[in-house]
Amino acid sequence: MKKAICPGSFDPVTNGHLDIIRRAAAMFDELIVLVSCNAAKRCLFTPAERIELIQGCVGDLPNVRVDSTDGLIAQYAADHSATGIVKGLRALSDFDYEFQQALTNKVLNPEIETVFLAASSDSMFLSSSMCKQVVALGGDCSRFVPPNALAALKAKLLPQP
Ligand code: ADP
Repeated sequence: MKKAICPGSFDPVTNGHLDIIRRAAAMFDELIVLVSCNAAKRCLFTPAERIELIQGCVGDLPNVRVDSTDGLIAQYAADHSATGIVKGLRALSDFDYEFQQALTNKVLNPEIETVFLAASSDSMFLSSSMCKQVVALGGDCSRFVPPNALAALKAKLLPQP
């Protein structure tokens, strides 16, 4: 059985993430979307909130589950018998960091293969941070994030009546 992890901050999940998750789910028997809780990265949403938002979008994918870790991805993969890590690549700017991470993970856990999926042309410009900026400044983000993430962003970032 081929099990893979799709790790990220998902703060919050965007349509770009969901595109990668759906395509990865079609490639592996089981896919764990892994919310990484990196203390160095200040997030708007708690890990539990980020998990709930992703879960609200992947209910139709029976081989996908959502989890979180505050440890090493390579260690999580070893602990859960996952041999693949799937990452989306938006542009050359992603490549340097992702390549470095893939090589580090390979040393930490030689069983792991990192698979890069090219971002789809209609979401390759999307990032969670850009979505947060758009919502905070009153812009329309409905084409960039799923409805539950949009509502959560508005609840966090806009003054409530
Ligand atoms: P962000 O930069 O949006 O905070 P994350 O840290 O949550 O992203 O990213 C998790 C993974 O998803 C990374 O591999 C990242 O390259 C990928 N990813 C993020 N946004 C997109 C997108 N719009 N299209 C494809 N892949 C993406």
